[in-house]
Amino acid sequence: VLGVKDNGNHVKETVEASNEQTALLDSREEIQRVRECLPAFKVKSKLVQTIRENQVTIVIGETGSGKTTQLAQYLYEAGFCAGHKLIGCTQPRRVAAMSVAKRVALEMNVDLGKQVGYSIRFEDETSTETRIKFMTDGILLREALLDETLDRYGCIILDEAHERSLNTDVMLGLLKQLLSRRRDLKVIVTSATMNAAKFSTFFGSAPQFSIPGRTFPVQTIYSKFPVEDYVESSVMQAVRIHASTNFDSGDILIFMTGQEDVESTSEAIKERLTEIYSKSKGITNFDEIDDVEIFTVYSALPGDVQNRIFQRLENGKRKIVVATNIAETSLTIDGIRYVIDCGYSKLKVYNPKIGLDSLMITPISQANANQRSGRAGRTAPGTAYRLYTEDTLHEDMYIQTIPEIQRTNLSNTVLLLKSLGVEQIIQFPFVDPPPIQTLLVSLNELFSIGALDNMGNLTELGMMMSKFPLQPSLSKVLLISAKNGCSEEMVTIVSMLSVPQVFYRPKERQKESDTARSRFFVPESDHLTFCNVYSQWKCSRYSHRWCSKHFVHYKSLQRAKEIREQLIKIMKKNRIQVVSSGTDWDVLRKCICSGYAHQAAKTSGLGKYCHLKTGMDIQLHPTSALYGLGEMPPYVVYHELLMTTKEYICCVTAVNPFWLIEFGGLLYDVRKIGGTHTDHADVEAFDPEEDRELDIKLKEIKEARNRM
Ligand code: ADP
Ligand code: MG
Repeated sequence: VLGVKDNGNHVKETVEASNEQTALLDSREEIQRVRECLPAFKVKSKLVQTIRENQVTIVIGETGSGKTTQLAQYLYEAGFCAGHKLIGCTQPRRVAAMSVAKRVALEMNVDLGKQVGYSIRFEDETSTETRIKFMTDGILLREALLDETLDRYGCIILDEAHERSLNTDVMLGLLKQLLSRRRDLKVIVTSATMNAAKFSTFFGSAPQFSIPGRTFPVQTIYSKFPVEDYVESSVMQAVRIHASTNFDSGDILIFMTGQEDVESTSEAIKERLTEIYSKSKGITNFDEIDDVEIFTVYSALPGDVQNRIFQRLENGKRKIVVATNIAETSLTIDGIRYVIDCGYSKLKVYNPKIGLDSLMITPISQANANQRSGRAGRTAPGTAYRLYTEDTLHEDMYIQTIPEIQRTNLSNTVLLLKSLGVEQIIQFPFVDPPPIQTLLVSLNELFSIGALDNMGNLTELGMMMSKFPLQPSLSKVLLISAKNGCSEEMVTIVSMLSVPQVFYRPKERQKESDTARSRFFVPESDHLTFCNVYSQWKCSRYSHRWCSKHFVHYKSLQRAKEIREQLIKIMKKNRIQVVSSGTDWDVLRKCICSGYAHQAAKTSGLGKYCHLKTGMDIQLHPTSALYGLGEMPPYVVYHELLMTTKEYICCVTAVNPFWLIEFGGLLYDVRKIGGTHTDHADVEAFDPEEDRELDIKLKEIKEARNRM
């Protein structure tokens, strides 16, 4: 069952050669044959006809039936681009938008970016020739800001609508409003079976078109006892499957929650397999093993999904794919026969009562569990190993995942809707309305950072903020920094905050990498630390070697550089100055405070903080530069709250309490000021009983209150 490669360079060459062969197999005829085998192909003409006859069509089909890759092509072939209109297809995930565009370009035998292109935040791979455009749902929303009737589009496919991502949900509402003004526009909503009826009702009984699927039975095996460590258990399960079945009998897909556990699972499997093979075959290195290859998929850097993951490997070599819930419905990898499901996913969770947004590892829903298992039965009967008990499934898991709109901070969305001219958010046609409490908090937050006036209308600052594809706090710091002569540095910081993981911390070299990181520390601020990393990298002339030497991810910095250029373009277009503060970094901290005043905390011991608005105990993240200060700064603002075993604040900057009053005047009260020394100011949140909000004459808030 277990095999070993020859060794050394020779092997590499063979692998490359056989890759070329696989590429040759991807000939035109083969691609055509594969397309014609997809379930969607059999119903193509009926499907196109239904779309022709209706303004809105709901298309339902199992994952892998060809909704994403085929539908747009069918419409293109059927002439839906007449009059130089575009076919737009939205995806909730960047990774999917990119990889699907690549695939469709290949199927249509055109260069990516020509007839088929994609657009994701900060990256546009389209041209005037583009007719089929894949994009994230967020991109289409932003396009609506520039052209509210979306005139460039003849058809819009809202793909993966069942995922109920926040932006898709908002897009559904916008399109519903747009339909009467754009009689010629075709809207297609695709969905797995769940939620389909709901979408149909939402669009006044739009027809539901089902693509008949074929799937194979999947045996579900539950864990008998609750699992203590799902990474460890999934590693054991994967190794067990690999060792007890023929390596060419089917691939393994493992669902994990996020980049970190995806990586550690993949590393641990490599280690374990190397150990086993070293005993049986005397190999010393995982790369020598020739009957299995491990892939990881997560959304951090979307460019990274390798084409190879979709191909049959040479000699039937087994694939083990470790993925986040991206592989649940957005990406279909053929040939999977074993699924290992850890039972969790990382979800954005928002608690409007305390106004906190966080990423939390939460149990998946039963619908997720079924989707995950289903991945094992696409090409042949399969097995799904659930690393949780059957009782857990029934008792601890919701039947369906709660739509994002009901569990996330809506400040961004509210700002966007306001910029689109939606005056009363409460009256917007939502598929499922967000909780009123959340809307109130978002309106108030936007008001407190100056994006809305006390009538609930967009201010000039708010209008400028909406020009940036950034969360409101980041747009604000950028705009304020331009006024204070430090936008050159701030745009770097904002760009660095828009990329995943800057620092690299390999397990076996943790100490070394921690030391390397600490050399960049600007003790008062993690934000400024990022700025420092970037400027040193710039001094190295953006060198790759510099990055490896300092344990910094080159790809992340490269991405930050691209984002920075994009942001500067937007700034210039809107006549916002790009100026450097030179060596004065205090002004930067003050500007940072201007966007984060609602995310402030007061120290209560070493590494310990207390959230100013809510009183919640929070912990400074162990990687923070602020530990270098020895003594904790009395007041800080933070970029992100991370909930794991404890509540951590990540990316933190020390601030002067008077700045908090200056920028968070609606939130905070100065209790007492001891002497003239600024550090003695004592800042506290206003007593909620006092109800400062009564001062705010937000029409919407009043109306919302009345409804509660
Ligand atoms: P659906 O959207 O209905 O889930 P898709 O259109 O995504 O289905 O997938 C149809 C087929 O195309 C699947 O067999 C899938 O494996 C294949 N496919 C999708 N993307 C790629 C790719 N980048 N390379 C090769 N095959 C792909
Ligand atoms: Mg799809």
